[in-house]
Amino acid sequence: MAGMPDPSEDRPPEVDCVVVGGGPAGMVLGLLLARAGVRVTVLEKHADFLRDFRGDTVHPSTLRLLDEVGLAGAFLALPHQQVTRIGVTTDDGTYVLADFGRLRGRYRFLALVPQWDLLDLLADAARGLPHFSLRMGAEAVGLLRVGGEVRGVRYRTADGEHALRARLTVAADGRHSLLRADAGLRLREFGAPMDVLWFRLPRVPGVAAPAFGGAGRVARGRLLVLIDRGSYWQTAFLVPKGGAAALRDAGLDSFRSGLVELLPGMAPALGVLRSWDDVRVLSVRVDRLRRWHLPGLLVIGDAAHAMSPIGGVGINLAVQDAAAAARLLAGPLRRRRVTPRRLARVRRRRLLPTVVTQQLQRQVQRRFLARVLAGEDVGTPRVLRVLQRHPVLQGLPARLIGIGLLPEHAPPGPAVRPAG
Ligand SMILES: Cc1cc2nc3c(=O)[nH]c(=O)nc-3n(C[C@H](O)[C@H](O)[C@H](O)COP(=O)(O)OP(=O)(O)OC[C@H]3O[C@@H](n4cnc5c(N)ncnc54)[C@H](O)[C@@H]3O)c2cc1C
Repeated sequence: MAGMPDPSEDRPPEVDCVVVGGGPAGMVLGLLLARAGVRVTVLEKHADFLRDFRGDTVHPSTLRLLDEVGLAGAFLALPHQQVTRIGVTTDDGTYVLADFGRLRGRYRFLALVPQWDLLDLLADAARGLPHFSLRMGAEAVGLLRVGGEVRGVRYRTADGEHALRARLTVAADGRHSLLRADAGLRLREFGAPMDVLWFRLPRVPGVAAPAFGGAGRVARGRLLVLIDRGSYWQTAFLVPKGGAAALRDAGLDSFRSGLVELLPGMAPALGVLRSWDDVRVLSVRVDRLRRWHLPGLLVIGDAAHAMSPIGGVGINLAVQDAAAAARLLAGPLRRRRVTPRRLARVRRRRLLPTVVTQQLQRQVQRRFLARVLAGEDVGTPRVLRVLQRHPVLQGLPARLIGIGLLPEHAPPGPAVRPAG
């Protein structure tokens, strides 16, 4: 049974580190540890990385990290869009919220790339490293424990159940983390006033695009975000928490007419929404673990802290956790001595950026989004007017969104390149 001690598990570990979850956090950690000479296996429950409507925004902090390991060139050779400014359109005009062109350094834009392309690239590059192994279609079902220590995981594949003993187990298994639950780690939930409906809208010839590559539109009771994905708009429509059911009950026609008010001229594009299968609901949650580790176990990424979609920072915080964990743990893992104190340092390092980002997201949710979604006419927020009057200030939100607090660096290691 998951989590029960088993005397046969008190044997030497097969790998230094097993990472559960092949999302951005898990793949970056696997790559960085293997590159630093640590024997690491990543388990991913799906057979491939292909999933639609996941975070697709790669921020300057992640681009810098890819640069440090030698992958920025290959990454930017993938088909992608670059967003240099984010704006908000209200009833009285369009305002720039963040201008990434004002950042320092080579990467002064958000790169929009399907998440599976990023994960494929990381997997390709990591496979070339002698200490790395990736098992796809391998679903962790519980922790292996000896005494009070975690010593690896049990996992299931098409041919049955297996065990993998490891000196360190990392739970990077996302916001519904099974390992976090098995470990009994407690979560603080902060709630969110909204959910998000995601869908694609094709470009309509002759209809003016939003002013920027990424733009929000706000009208009384309605909020929409459009992200330029080249041939289509990736569209996020915000609804009050649990409100998706009421929209469904009212029917697709009524949903489409509501959208036309926000997107005048785009009515022909809305015809692509033929059924609710074309609309994906993201239940927004904001939470954080009080403790990120147990002896032999570390939790990172969404599994440690689910972020609100505001700012699209989820991937980047997950990647930053992975970089911090690799930097703090590669040496101890090579020396085969990972103490609970060392594991606690990962949380200490990442707590401030996580807390500050979540606090800001919760402020925006409470002071702005919740009120708009409740139908209040909040007008144009003052901060947008100030940013418009003093464009130099547009670099501040760009820094917060694009780089964040305490940006991390990759631990030393050779340059890697994708095998293909
Ligand atoms: C619809 C949607 C849109 C989003 N948009 C953005 C955005 O624009 N920008 C942004 O930055 N963030 C966005 N996010 C958030 C972003 O996707 C996450 O913050 C980020 O992917 C977290 O990375 P992670 O590696 O911690 O977890 P995940 O990406 O959730 O990865 C976890 C991985 O673990 C695997 N897994 C789970 N359980 C097991 C198990 N038991 N055994 C083995 N494998 C397991 C999963 O299959 C998955 O591959 C969005 C999220 C959603 C759902």
